[in-house]
Amino acid sequence: MRLATFFRPLALVLAGLAATALSPVLVAAEQVVVYSARNEQLIKPLFDAYEQETGVKVRFLTDKEGPLMARLKAEGANTPADLLLTVDAGNLWQAAESGLLKPFVSSTLEDSIPAHLRDPDNHWVGLSVRARTLVYNTDKVDPKELSTYAALAEPEWKNRLCLRTSNKVYNQSLVAMLIAEKGEPEAERIVRGWVANLATSPFSDDTAALQAVAAGQCDVTIVNTYYLGRLLRDNPDLPLQIFWPNQDVEDSGVHVNISGAGITRHAKNPDGALKLLEWLASATAQDSFAGENLEYPARAGVPLAPLVESWGEFRQSPLNVAFAGAHQAAAVRLMDRAGYR
Ligand code: FE
Repeated sequence: MRLATFFRPLALVLAGLAATALSPVLVAAEQVVVYSARNEQLIKPLFDAYEQETGVKVRFLTDKEGPLMARLKAEGANTPADLLLTVDAGNLWQAAESGLLKPFVSSTLEDSIPAHLRDPDNHWVGLSVRARTLVYNTDKVDPKELSTYAALAEPEWKNRLCLRTSNKVYNQSLVAMLIAEKGEPEAERIVRGWVANLATSPFSDDTAALQAVAAGQCDVTIVNTYYLGRLLRDNPDLPLQIFWPNQDVEDSGVHVNISGAGITRHAKNPDGALKLLEWLASATAQDSFAGENLEYPARAGVPLAPLVESWGEFRQSPLNVAFAGAHQAAAVRLMDRAGYR
């Protein structure tokens, strides 16, 4: 855990000053405190830019979403955190469900971020889009063979599919959205078909699944595009290509998820947190927020990183990503029943 060292010193200084006059310097410096499951490399340049632009100090603590949410719960009303920044609508939905977030109203966010990437109850908002799509081995698959996520359950893909483990929230969200779109029985039929078609047991991460496809261990997999981007950045000659599924008019579009943020229930500076959120949704911030990790900006009309742009345009599923949370428990049970490990 990267425990920022500022909390304790600041608290001590403030305690020391409480009996005397407050230092004008301390009073003047507004700050926003962020708990972030997104790494320092991504967020620090953004927060530095925000501080330069506004004079508002952004303090942050990075960790995985589980420990951060546990920390928020344990700290309760005493938390120093104003904003929770994390990946996956499933996680944000859980945070809201656990009472860790406070709803906000912002016409700026409503204007800049499409509705399907925002919590209908306004507890969180998407800041980048992560497309979970098909990647195939160009030596082994004719893209004409590919069409939808569901089609990978058909017998012609027997022993040709690789998947990441069902423990990962990305796949839980994918199946949850499948339930939202098609209903549970049909979603289960599809997942059972995937399991029957696996060439090998599920992988611990998307990169390993991609490497298995590149090595010819299987022909196709389902991954978030930025993992392909990272892999190709280092190995541009790998025989891997993206396919955008579910693009016919009657189909649902590509499964997307978000990274996003919400204001904590006990935020000391909720107005400051909202201003930072609005800034993160601005065109300038969106450029680096999405581009740094080869994701897609949540805001429309922001330029894409060149590699990301080279993958071409696709239609996203218009279903609200909140379904990833609402059907998460059902998705986990379904995958268990279907033998997806
Ligand atoms: Fe990831």
